[in-house]
Amino acid sequence: MNGAILNAWPSVVVSRGNEWQSAITLELTALPEKIEFAEMTGNTHTALGLEPESAGNLAAGLRDLLKDTYRYRFTLHGVGLVMAADDIVVADGLIRLVRVHPGDHTRPGTTQEHPLQVHLDVFTEYPLQGPPYGDPNGDPNGDPVDIQQRPGLPATVTFRFSRKPLQSLFQGARIGVDPGHGGKDKGIRGPVDLTEKYVTLEISRELCSLLELSGAYPVVTRTGDVDLTQKDRIQVLKAGHPVLCVEIHASGSDNPLAQVYRVAARQDCSDSALLANEVASALRERMGIRPEPDVLPAQPGLDVPFIRVEPLCLTYFADEANFRAPLFRKRLGQSIYNGIARYLHRVKTRQP
Ligand SMILES: [Zn+2]
Repeated sequence: MNGAILNAWPSVVVSRGNEWQSAITLELTALPEKIEFAEMTGNTHTALGLEPESAGNLAAGLRDLLKDTYRYRFTLHGVGLVMAADDIVVADGLIRLVRVHPGDHTRPGTTQEHPLQVHLDVFTEYPLQGPPYGDPNGDPNGDPVDIQQRPGLPATVTFRFSRKPLQSLFQGARIGVDPGHGGKDKGIRGPVDLTEKYVTLEISRELCSLLELSGAYPVVTRTGDVDLTQKDRIQVLKAGHPVLCVEIHASGSDNPLAQVYRVAARQDCSDSALLANEVASALRERMGIRPEPDVLPAQPGLDVPFIRVEPLCLTYFADEANFRAPLFRKRLGQSIYNGIARYLHRVKTRQP
């Protein structure tokens, strides 16, 4: 009997071998007969088999997501799809999107279409660095494909991807992080009394933990609920010699239904504008918000790209409620991180 794929989900894990990995797990009624791996080439639209017109019909958001991605395909033989063919936005910094769809083959001799294979297409931001992605037909219990079968439960197949491309981008980079407010200065308050000083610290923690996993050194102005003057903050940042700085705030409005988001860039600094742009687009992609651009005055003595992010509108009841969910906080930190990663990649690869 052929197995069927029931479910698919992404995660970020640290492997037993202590490697930081992105993982995609498929849940199946029975294991596939064989798994094949291929690196796909060509630009994303060609690789998807889309004519320019149909590419134009793709949702603009999806088109943006697939722009400049690298594509890899796993083909699972002898399984069908129970879940609907799906595009799963992952946006974990390495994997941007995963597409699960039936293969083209139908079972010979049957009138009914019966796909015998399923493709798992993985779109990544950077070329994968193998291993572990190299040999899915190797040891079935080792990297990169982790197969689990337990009595009474669906089988799972987990594909693992090394997050080394992110670690090589961030390795040793000193990144300034300044969570706004603190101590007596509570900042904006939400309708149920969530405070901005708490929100900025939580987002900063999520961001810093990703930076640390990437091998970067966060230079943080505060890690607790303390009073800091603007002068104190600049002093901490200056002393840490960061390559860039991100100030974190929340926005608010007198109109309780307003949703205002902003990413502000240091004036007269093209790299600040580039950084702001990448963080804004990462927020759009991950959080579905459209931050407005804004400008910041230069900070004397701090001559590095500098932005201020307001990824949350605290006076809007839904944002305040969402913030109580750990996953939402993680996504906020992840979005800012993704934007910083893309900025570093651009700077690294641009022509002199
Ligand atoms: Zn603020």
